[in-house]
Amino acid sequence: MSDAWLSRPDLLRTEGFIAGRWEESDTRYDVLNPATGACLARVTQHGAEAATRAVDAASAALAAWSATTASERAAILRRWHELVLESAEDLARLMTAEQGKPLAEARGEVAYAASFLLWFAEEARRVYGSVIPGNAPTRRLTVIRQPVGVVAAITPWNFPAAMITRKVAPALAVGCTVVLKPSELTPLSALALAHLGAEAGVPPGVFNVVSGEAPAIGEVLTGDPRVRKFSFTGSTAVGKMLAAKCMATVKRVSLELGGNAPFIVFDDADIDAAVSGAIASKFRNSGQTCVCANRFLVQDGIYDRFAAALARKVGMLNAGDGLAGASDQGPLINAAAVAKVERHCADAVERGARILARGQVSGPPEGHFARATLLVDVAPDALLVREETFGPLAGLIRFDHEEEAIRLANDTPAGLAAYLFTADHSRATRVSEALEYGMVGLNTGLISTEVAPFGGIKESGFGREGSQFGIDDYVSIKLVVAEIAPA
Ligand code: NAP
Repeated sequence: MSDAWLSRPDLLRTEGFIAGRWEESDTRYDVLNPATGACLARVTQHGAEAATRAVDAASAALAAWSATTASERAAILRRWHELVLESAEDLARLMTAEQGKPLAEARGEVAYAASFLLWFAEEARRVYGSVIPGNAPTRRLTVIRQPVGVVAAITPWNFPAAMITRKVAPALAVGCTVVLKPSELTPLSALALAHLGAEAGVPPGVFNVVSGEAPAIGEVLTGDPRVRKFSFTGSTAVGKMLAAKCMATVKRVSLELGGNAPFIVFDDADIDAAVSGAIASKFRNSGQTCVCANRFLVQDGIYDRFAAALARKVGMLNAGDGLAGASDQGPLINAAAVAKVERHCADAVERGARILARGQVSGPPEGHFARATLLVDVAPDALLVREETFGPLAGLIRFDHEEEAIRLANDTPAGLAAYLFTADHSRATRVSEALEYGMVGLNTGLISTEVAPFGGIKESGFGREGSQFGIDDYVSIKLVVAEIAPA
């Protein structure tokens, strides 16, 4: 595909980025547009050797970068933020082309990705330590927070830009250096970000990108003792496996893993708000977000009205090529993702569910499209209740009372996001506190912002990204105990 569709064609990079240089390799892989099947670019396929050189580069750059002042690092991050916004339309087009989400959503993600660069530019100057009252007259106790060192980051395809800046911005802000492995399905956004970072003044070796053979690169990033921090966003199975490898060299680890979000609607909920929240939470990114509502728990008294109102909206959803014109949804990332949605739908129907509404597909036949679907009377043991569907399939389950809703909601190993809709303030407080999740949306289906801590509990992982807490995963606490000679 030609790069004439970008106003800055140089943003379409196809090499790895190591030590400030663009590097080719002998082998390349195809990056495909999931809406059309077209090959967008042939990207350098890096493996263990390149990953090791990237760690070399990040290690070599660490001392000088961590010695810069917070203001110097903040200025570079701010410039990077400006450059991302200046190229927002190109970045959005690249993202839609490689990931599939409609252009309007891609523009939203680019702005969201940029917001982490600005937020952590601001936070860089507030990495305070503390002085503790001494435990003896001759003792002085000082606590400082220092960069943890070389950071390895692995990110998924569903948010090809924001999942990167959410890790890289705090790491660079505090003085760490980074080796990033983006998903091989969506490397173009990552490489374009690296290009703009270099233009903003990020020094060679401070931010490196290697893309290609995931297991081989993963072995290096989890095994090399010079990597002191491993930050992963992706599936629970892969995250657990990689985190276990990190323990051989006792790395700091952050995990942002899969969810299984309950979306609870109580009888007293504002039905229009609940339906809007359901559409936003379930169908954004065609259902491919880790905080997507995965199970709708709806109280008996509002069940039929909520189902009918949601059905009207779902029936209007249209999936198409995000670059070709207005569509509500893009394709799913690949054929396996479509097959999973179909499997979950068929399983629910076999267990007694009914299809109440389906959206349309207007995209090309080569695209990986799935019709938005609403199921009612879903059995609590259906696959779509137990596993993350990661697609545009909404299933409604009926409940009778509050304790039952809480029990059903918490009946999963996942603990990322949950949603509840109610007009009763006391119930809102009780249920929010009882939900075993890292984030709760109360009368809203949208919870992500750079100013708030994003992350899960239980098997959805640990660590927080964004907000004042997003710095914590990239600093080590050091205690200096000083013995003062008496006068
Ligand atoms: P995935 O298969 O776990 O992949 C995530 C990343 O891990 C990709 O870069 C992938 O590379 C890499 N990877 C896979 N196997 C690897 C290995 N053996 N060694 C090293 N790296 C390896 O997950 P996904 O399907 O891309 O993403 C969807 C999942 O991410 C969902 O479960 C979603 O809930 C979760 N997610 C969580 C959050 C959060 O903040 N909690 C945010 C977004 C997504 P390749 O793609 O190149 O194979």
